This record gives sequence, structure tokens and C-alpha cells, in this order.
Amino acid sequence: MGTHSNTGPSGDGSSRGVSRRALLIGGGAAAVGAAALAADEIRRVWWRVPGVEKPRKEGELDYAGATWTAASEANWRRADRPDDYGVDRVIVHVTQGSFASAVRVFQDPAHRAATHYIVGQDGRVAQMIRELDVAYHAGNRSFNERSVGIEHEGFVDRPQDFTAKMYASSARLTASICARYAIPVDREHIIGHVEVPGTDHTDPGPHWDWDRYMKLVRAASTAAPETA
Ligand SMILES: [Zn+2]
Repeated sequence: MGTHSNTGPSGDGSSRGVSRRALLIGGGAAAVGAAALAADEIRRVWWRVPGVEKPRKEGELDYAGATWTAASEANWRRADRPDDYGVDRVIVHVTQGSFASAVRVFQDPAHRAATHYIVGQDGRVAQMIRELDVAYHAGNRSFNERSVGIEHEGFVDRPQDFTAKMYASSARLTASICARYAIPVDREHIIGHVEVPGTDHTDPGPHWDWDRYMKLVRAASTAAPETA
């Protein structure tokens, strides 16, 4: 999803009979036709330009279960995934703070990091960066380029923070991402931040229940392959 419509200047009525009205407005219609053709030419050139130039609609989502809150543009960069970079990883993070504090720092240009999504302990999902864009979250350039990052509200040393609602909601989101990019639902492709090469981060930590999570992702994958 997220593609714009390319209907272009169709429906120009060329098959209609020539009525008196059409003759009266003929000159104008021809001018409009030429302008529309020019616009179409521009559109064709545009297709060859990387998606960094694609218009972004405020509030547009990649996952229907999320609500949109924009991250600061300093915390991600424009891209055209999966055309310029293939997406083959989902990276699980833990915020080390509240849902609200995670939203706040992702809106802060000085933070220089953000994930695409944040999942709350109550199961709510915020999307803050479009999946076609590269979010700075993995501490590894190529892993940023190839992954979608999901933060989870809580602290790595508090197992009670990882609620059933959070696991279930995050699993649905991950299943949707995997379905859309044909990412295998396994631990090679759904990884923790700690597993990113070169990182010094330890999240999601030892209390994140991978067996439970992967079971939920697999169940969500077979139940609803198309959720967005
Ligand atoms: Zn992390």
C-alpha cells in the first residue's frame, strides 16, 4: 500500500459524440488536454526518480492498526523501500521508558534515532515513520536500511512490562510486515536489537519471551496475511 493512483488524464470523453456544447468548449478542452499530457509526461519521468520524491500524505499509514504521529525528520531519511533497499528484517526494541516518552524523543530532532512503530503495554500502536523510509534505530546502517523497527513500552529488567496485550498487538504488526515484504517468520529475520551486528544495545533483554512472541506472530500470519 502507500502507492499513489496513476489514473492520470483519462476519461477525456474522446469517445463521446461531438455535441454543440463540445464544439463550444472545444478550444479550451484541447488546451486542458495538452496540459494534462504534459503533466502525464512529468509523471512518467517521476517513476524513474527514487521514491524519495514521492509525495507523502500526512497521516498515511502502512499498518491499519496504528495511529500516526510524525517523528522528527532528523531521526530518519527518505528512501523508496522496498525498491531501493529490500526489507528482510523486523527489529524488536524496548523503550526503557513510557510510551509517551518514546513518542517525545522520536519527535526530538536532537535524539537522532527513532523506530517506525511503538507498541504500548495496552496494545496501542503508533506509526511515526513510513516503512518506505529508513529509520535510525539499529545502530548499523545496512540493518537500518533493510529493517522495520518496533519499540515496546517498558524496561528490559521488568518482565511484567511485557504484557499479553503488547505481545499480541506487536505480533499482529510483525505478521503484517512479514506478509507485505515476504519476510520469513523465523528468528533469523525477526530479531532483537541486541542481535544487530556491532550494536552495544541489549534490548529487548532476557525477559522478552521469544518463544511466546514467535508463536503469536506465526498464528497471526496464518490468521490474517493481509492486515493493511
Ligand atoms: Zn533498541
